[in-house]
Amino acid sequence: MVTKKKSQQSDVLEDQLNPSRTRQQLPRWLRKQDLSEADLPYIHPMLSECFTEWLEEVDGFPWLGGQIALLHPDGTFIPAEDLEPSAEELFRVWADNEAGPSAASVSLETYRMTLMRAEEHRHPQLRAFDSIAVPIFTRSTGILCSVVACLLPAGAANAGDLKLLQAAALHIRSGIYRHFENLFVGGMLRERKLSLKEESRRDILFDVMRRLNAHIDVEHVLSEVLDSLEHLYPVCKADLFLSQDYNSPNEKVKPLAFHLQDMDLCKTAFLEGKIREERIGGRHRLALPLAGKQGVYGVLRLDLPTDEFDEADISFLTMLAGSAGAAFEKAKLHEQSNVLVGELRLINELTQRLNSSLKLADTMQFASAELLHIFNSDYCCILQFDAVTQQFVVVSANVAEMIGGTYEKDYGFCGVMLSTKEPIILSDYCSATPVTSQLMDATQSRSLLASPLVLNGEVIGSVLIAKREANHFSYDNYKLLQVLSAHLGLAMSNATLHAAVRRMVITDNLTGLYARHYLNERIGRRQEKDSSGALIVVDIDHFKRINDTYGHQVGDNILLQVSEIIRTSIRDSDIAARWGGEELAIYLPLLGLEQTERVAERIRQRVESETNPQVTVSCGISEWRHSDERVSVESLFYKADMALYDAKHQGRNCIVVG
Ligand code: GH3
Ligand code: MG
Ligand code: MG
Repeated sequence: MVTKKKSQQSDVLEDQLNPSRTRQQLPRWLRKQDLSEADLPYIHPMLSECFTEWLEEVDGFPWLGGQIALLHPDGTFIPAEDLEPSAEELFRVWADNEAGPSAASVSLETYRMTLMRAEEHRHPQLRAFDSIAVPIFTRSTGILCSVVACLLPAGAANAGDLKLLQAAALHIRSGIYRHFENLFVGGMLRERKLSLKEESRRDILFDVMRRLNAHIDVEHVLSEVLDSLEHLYPVCKADLFLSQDYNSPNEKVKPLAFHLQDMDLCKTAFLEGKIREERIGGRHRLALPLAGKQGVYGVLRLDLPTDEFDEADISFLTMLAGSAGAAFEKAKLHEQSNVLVGELRLINELTQRLNSSLKLADTMQFASAELLHIFNSDYCCILQFDAVTQQFVVVSANVAEMIGGTYEKDYGFCGVMLSTKEPIILSDYCSATPVTSQLMDATQSRSLLASPLVLNGEVIGSVLIAKREANHFSYDNYKLLQVLSAHLGLAMSNATLHAAVRRMVITDNLTGLYARHYLNERIGRRQEKDSSGALIVVDIDHFKRINDTYGHQVGDNILLQVSEIIRTSIRDSDIAARWGGEELAIYLPLLGLEQTERVAERIRQRVESETNPQVTVSCGISEWRHSDERVSVESLFYKADMALYDAKHQGRNCIVVG
């Protein structure tokens, strides 16, 4: 390794650095720029180019038979295009350390211009030449950057040649600097251009991000991303594939369908959450994942000519996709929270209203109307599962054919849900569904949303919502119905339990007829609006004897037999009740005495002939009319009781009208 000696260097510089005109014309800042030691390993191609250029420029260099070449400070030979192969061979030998000292090696060691005579050379090939070498130093840093070497026929070299070669070295150096300055200025311009582009990209990105963040609406965010891309890369074809079931009116937003051909790039980008690129012909295809903090929502696919963008574009587009992903997530979360708030409000309102009435039919009618509205659907049917008959019973429907209908437990979608206890979402009933459904057939519907009503793990009913068009219901609808059906199930169970309790309260345990207080209540209500009505009080004759003879159990059975005869002898609108003990009563709204007597007579006869052990009954009849002075339940009973008393006195098994 050559060690530099400052004094030697400056001497040589003094020799060589005559101020050149070119240098003075250069602006001061450019003049200050120079090659550094660190640059040296990289300037080989430039030196080679400069030397080739110089050889062309100085065609006819005034040494006949002389050969000239450039060497690196490390002694390696710098190839030049115009150099003859024989000369090249010679210089390679010369540059080779094994060849022994030459002017070049001395120059490299001493940093001085050197002349060596042919006889001083050790290598036989070089013995035919005198060699001259002139070092070239950088203009301001004084670093040895090259050596100009020349071979002349033995004995031909003289002092004039030295001067000439020195001039040549200076000339070559000015060529080197011309290249260096071109490179330097060119590089600066490129840098400047890049930084301007970068700056404009930053501005654009900032602007896009500002606008993206200003939107809390998913649709706006998507349009903003696509519009910005179109604006920035007019030749680019942009598509956005979303994984969510999001129906965008924007035709460039499509569902991410992995099964389709041509989607591999997008699929990888989506699954790995990283940018993916491929080149097809002269086009570049990029798949940028649209990712937020919580996941990847889709892929932005760009297709543009390869020469239209560079690495910086990729990082810019990655940033853009990142911002878009974050904005999309924000908008989506905002939308979801809005939906959730809306759903909570809806559930709250619905449950309040469902619980405000305990009548099953009313409650389910109301629920049905609400569901039609919430899911923007055409038909709704709510069914209750009767555990006794093992059938589904329609409790509410807006389809005429289904009102009041019953279905076997394994029929249709209700049957499926009874066994799976899972809700159903069907996008198209027409496309080979293995289930037959009267609702879907009768209404010619294609979309179905259905949920079982489950209480304590048991299916107590089901709700079916249908729409004529296919693909109507979304997954969000499905989830919402699931929540709503929990409340609906509770409401159905409450209403059913309430009805059962009420039935128990108004029904007599033993006979199954109404209880006395309910009869009183009903007569009272009818007396408020009707113009007339009649009452039959039925008393079993000598019932005590029956009990005494056959025991209470048989007595109870007789009571049941008589009750059944009464039940099957009256109209639906008549009300039969157990008045107390072995006395039964029938209220017959709007019936006259004559017809009432006929009813009583029928009962009396049937009891006499149908009971076993045989009993008879006595009946007391009373009636009220709107025109009566005093209309009340008590007086009606009092009169009937009196008539019964008379009947007993007349020998029993007879009817007396009071
Ligand atoms: P009469 O012909 O005058 O009506 O005679 P009776 O024996 O039917 O009348 P009484 O009022 O003397 O007796 C009514 C009997 O009915 C007394 C009671 O033991 C019986 N009884 C009342 N409620 C029931 C009941 O729920 N089951 C049974 N097995 N007996 C009842
Ligand atoms: Mg009796
Ligand atoms: Mg009695």
